[in-house]
Amino acid sequence: MSELFSSRWSKNSTGPVVNVAVVGGTHGNELHGIYMVRELNSEPAASQLRADFPSLRVQALIGNPAAVAAVGTGAGRRYVDVDLNRCFLVKDLADTTIDTVEGRRARELDALLGPKSSAEPQCDFIFDLHSTTSNTGILLCVHPNDEFSLQLIAYLHTKHANINSCLWSQGEVPLLPSIARSGITVEVGPISHSTANASLYERTKSLLRDAMEYIDNHNNLLFQSNALNLTRKEVIIPIYERVASIGYPRDVDGNITGLVHPTLQGGAELNGGTIVKVGDPIFQMLHDSSTIYFRGLNEETASNFKVEVAGPQSAGKRKRDESNVEEEPQWSESVTVFYPMFINEAAYNEKDIAFVLMRKLEMKQSIVTRV
Ligand SMILES: [Zn+2]
Repeated sequence: MSELFSSRWSKNSTGPVVNVAVVGGTHGNELHGIYMVRELNSEPAASQLRADFPSLRVQALIGNPAAVAAVGTGAGRRYVDVDLNRCFLVKDLADTTIDTVEGRRARELDALLGPKSSAEPQCDFIFDLHSTTSNTGILLCVHPNDEFSLQLIAYLHTKHANINSCLWSQGEVPLLPSIARSGITVEVGPISHSTANASLYERTKSLLRDAMEYIDNHNNLLFQSNALNLTRKEVIIPIYERVASIGYPRDVDGNITGLVHPTLQGGAELNGGTIVKVGDPIFQMLHDSSTIYFRGLNEETASNFKVEVAGPQSAGKRKRDESNVEEEPQWSESVTVFYPMFINEAAYNEKDIAFVLMRKLEMKQSIVTRV
């Protein structure tokens, strides 16, 4: 399977990227993507796209129409049966006994844009548009081996100063963009569910347009048509990699007993500068307003919180025992800086993620640019 994906990814970085899909409403209560799809399917935007980027064939579609149409709190709801954006593993797409609304829709999308199991998916590139209640700003999420997507986001960093990028985990991911040859998830926040934000919407639209321009330039350079003023150059961008997910403090019955600490709540994430070091406050307890401090990613942490560490060394999930709370931090470990992401994201309550700890990397990429 990994060979299948790697040949697919390298083909996009060295060959034309023509069939592009913009998907919104993969989660039915995230309005920005739904509005963007409607706009791209209307005039004059549709004609303008064809005129401005002639090497592309762009289609825009709603990921989860049933969830968009469902009555929830406000407009739409996240999903009907299960999270659509976890339905795209090859083994699940092949399992026709999965009879959820989202399982069926995943197979439809796979037939339309994939198939993921093929070396030649019909769609070359997917933008999957999401919004988040966390203060991520504009956050681009990409597979660490998807060369073309990495080049694209590196270019977008040169055009947009205040954006963030992060890597998905290695191996196969269950996410919607993975059914195409290549693709990224665009998260935009903070936005409450079932609401939209005009300035963030405009920033997303501008970013999407620059991304289309990059793909068109990539094609033009390959075809050597209109390429006289195009060249490649290397750029270095910051990018973040997941280290661990931190769950909420809970009692032995599983009830949440502490909230994200005020010093983290709403903080500008990743390049925005919010960090967590050993000894920093991370939770505030409900019953006495006491503070829980970050103790580092070790066995002791794992025994205090439900910590899921990325990679094969996963510490697993354990229940926190409140009787072990210490009032004053006494830390001896060397300080390590983590960057919390998706802090108090509303939709991650059900996944028991209070925030995700990321580490900062630098990435060098060769991008197509104007001379
Ligand atoms: Zn979403």
